[in-house]
Amino acid sequence: MCELVITIKDAFRKKFQQGYPLIFEEAIRDPHDLGKEGSLLKLVGENGAFIGKGFYGKQNKGLGWVLTHKEKETIDQQFFERKISAALNDRKPFFDDEDTTAFRVFNGEGDGIGGFTIDYYKDNYVINWYSDGIFQFKEEVTQSLEKLVSYKGIYEKKRFNVGGKYVEDDDFVMGEREEFPIIVKENGVRFAVYLNDGPMTGIFLDQREVRKTIRKSYAKGKKVLNTFSYTGAFSVCAALGGAAHTTSVDLANRSLPRTTEQFSMNNIEREAHEIKVMDVFRYFKYAVKKGISYEMIILDPPSFARSKKNTFSVPKDYKNLLKDAIAITKRNGVIVASTNYAGFGMTKFKELVKKAFHETGKQYRVIEEFSLPEDFKTNKDFPEGDYLKVLFIKKMN
Ligand code: SAH
Repeated sequence: MCELVITIKDAFRKKFQQGYPLIFEEAIRDPHDLGKEGSLLKLVGENGAFIGKGFYGKQNKGLGWVLTHKEKETIDQQFFERKISAALNDRKPFFDDEDTTAFRVFNGEGDGIGGFTIDYYKDNYVINWYSDGIFQFKEEVTQSLEKLVSYKGIYEKKRFNVGGKYVEDDDFVMGEREEFPIIVKENGVRFAVYLNDGPMTGIFLDQREVRKTIRKSYAKGKKVLNTFSYTGAFSVCAALGGAAHTTSVDLANRSLPRTTEQFSMNNIEREAHEIKVMDVFRYFKYAVKKGISYEMIILDPPSFARSKKNTFSVPKDYKNLLKDAIAITKRNGVIVASTNYAGFGMTKFKELVKKAFHETGKQYRVIEEFSLPEDFKTNKDFPEGDYLKVLFIKKMN
C-alpha cells in the first residue's frame, strides 16, 4: 500500500520523535490531505526528514496513530501479526490461570497499534474497533488471530459511529456461534456474558483487581450500596466476600434480570440483596429521607450519561455525586470512587475528592488506589490512555 506524506509542524516534531503515538489535527500542516480512512501515512518534518509511519483513522480528538519510527518497517499483515503475537505472549500468565478466563489480550496503543482492542472471553475473542480507519485493517487482524490462536468464535464491536457510538449490528465475525450467555471466570467468580448483544458484554474487565479487593478485604459483614451497578458485578463480589446486605441501583431495566443472573451464577441467596431499577440521584434523596446509610458505597458512573431529567458528566458532576455518597456513608465507612473519564488524571481526581469532603466538613483517608490492570497495557508516551482511576476512601467522622 502506498503512503501519503504528511508534514508535521515544527512545534510538534519533537513530541512525535519522543514517542507520542496519537496523530492530532493541530500538529499537521495540511490536515485536509489525509486521504480516506485507513490510508497509510508517512510523517515527515517541515524539513522533509522522516519521523514515523502511521494510519488515518478519526477517533475522538485524534486523526490516527503512529505505528513505527523505523523507516524500513512496512505496515502489512506481518506487522500486525508481530504486534498481536507479542501481546498474546505477554498475557501468558492469564491464559495459564484457570480461575480467570476473561481478560484483555491487545490494548491498542499500549500494545503498539492504536485504535483497536481485543478481549478474550473463554475460547472467544471480541475485537473493539474505535475508528473506521483501523477497521480497514480487519483482514490483517483476523488473519493474525487465525494464525496465532485457536478459538471458538470471533466477534467485533464497531465503535465508530458519530461521537464514537456503537454501530448496531450482528457482531459475529467468524468461527462457530456460541449460545449466549457463556460463563467466564474471574479469580474464581462466575459471570454470564453476552458477546453478541449490543456494545457491552456484561462485565467490565478493567475492574478485576477492584472487585477482588472488595471481595477479599472490604466486604465482610458490610452493608453495601453499589450505584450505576449495571449487571451487579461489584455487588456479586461484595456478597461473595461476606457482605451482610447489598443494594444495586441502575436506571436500565435490563439491570434487574442481568444482576439476578450474576447472583444465581454464584449461588448467592437473593434475599439479602436488593436490586433497584432507578436513578441513582433519586435513590440518594430517598435514602436520606428514610435515614438509610451504608458501610460501603461504590461509585462507578459512566463518563457521560443522559437520563430523562438531566445529564451527568464526570468533570461537572462527580464532586456532587461524592457529596451525595458522603451524606449516607457511616463513620469509618468506605467509598469506592471510580472513574474511567480520560480527560483528567489521578491528581485532579484526588483534588475533586478533597473538595467534596471539604465542602461536607468531613475527614477522610485514601486507603487504596488502583489504575488499569496489567492486561490493559498502557503506553508510557500516552498517559491519556491510562484512564482508570479508583480510590478507596475511608470516611473518618
Ligand atoms: N459499575 C458497573 C458499570 C457501570 S456502566 C460495573 O462495574 O459493571 C454504567 C451504568 O450506569 C449503566 O448500566 C447505566 O444504565 C447506568 N446509569 C447511567 N446513568 C444513571 C443514573 N442516573 N442512575 C442510575 N444508573 C445510571
